[in-house]
Amino acid sequence: MHHNEIFPRFRKGKVLTPGNFGCLKGIPTLNITNGCLFRCTYCYARGYTQAPREGEIHLYVNLSSLLEEELARRRIFPPWIILNTSSDCFQSHPDILSVAYEVIRTLLDRGIGISFLTKGVIPQRFIDLFGRSPEKILAQIGLVSLSDRYWREYEPGTPSPDKRIENIQRLKEIGIVPEIRIDPIIPFVTDTEIEAMTLLRQLQEKGVKKVTLSYLHLRPAIYQQLMKELSPLHRRVIESCFRTQEWKAIGSSTKTKLLPKTIREKGYQRIKEIGERLGITAAICQCKNPDLKGDLCSSGRVKAVLGKRTPAQLPLFRC
Ligand code: SF4
Repeated sequence: MHHNEIFPRFRKGKVLTPGNFGCLKGIPTLNITNGCLFRCTYCYARGYTQAPREGEIHLYVNLSSLLEEELARRRIFPPWIILNTSSDCFQSHPDILSVAYEVIRTLLDRGIGISFLTKGVIPQRFIDLFGRSPEKILAQIGLVSLSDRYWREYEPGTPSPDKRIENIQRLKEIGIVPEIRIDPIIPFVTDTEIEAMTLLRQLQEKGVKKVTLSYLHLRPAIYQQLMKELSPLHRRVIESCFRTQEWKAIGSSTKTKLLPKTIREKGYQRIKEIGERLGITAAICQCKNPDLKGDLCSSGRVKAVLGKRTPAQLPLFRC
């Protein structure tokens, strides 16, 4: 496995910057690290120009004090902040987790809600912290498949699917039902009837009510990563599915390839129907499927809430 090293970094300047893509637009986003220990093969953040060198993780060790100073200067707090847009705050390393804990506590102490997507294991002390204000937590767990085959091939650096499932139980004990993000769905690998059924059955047993769906899409850097890191069989699957597709401008990316529309439509329909039978609502991620009728995921709902209210109508969020 690839060697990862963590480097402490001191951030400067403003930390709360509004997101500029899709449903994150206008909501401040925050990342604890630049670079991510999990190194998913399909990770788009690994291809960012500002991404550190392979195997390097830059940890913003002064983030919570910077955040405290910035919030002290503000008259109005943002009601929500979205974590983990290009990293994961629950990467399995004690130093990362301790910065994450301080940052999240700083936010929750001021009544600022957090929305996050994670493929990590959420330690119990975070669960205890969330338990003080569960209504301020929008939790999404990233989980595409329960199969070892998928995990070892596409996300070998992440905690196992079983460990991620355990997050659901812990969150439920404090009254939070996480949403599951099934993304990236791999055509002909994780979108079969049996694969989807196995995953959704397990999620139903754990009390999950909502999942969001999105097929793999490519950007040039993701494509290169996949071709470098996947086994020949999976490289062939990806190559043949995307061969006919053009690079297009989608969202903030100028070069994106989506899967052929028919593959996506049929696959989403198949998974949605299985979900319906099990009492799970499956929404299609709108930002990544601009040509289909999408649904609003939880980030989208945060934005919808923000869009409808002016700061004056949000007295709870004022300092
Ligand atoms: S967990 Fe997210 S940020 Fe980390 S490598 Fe995987 S896709 Fe990238």
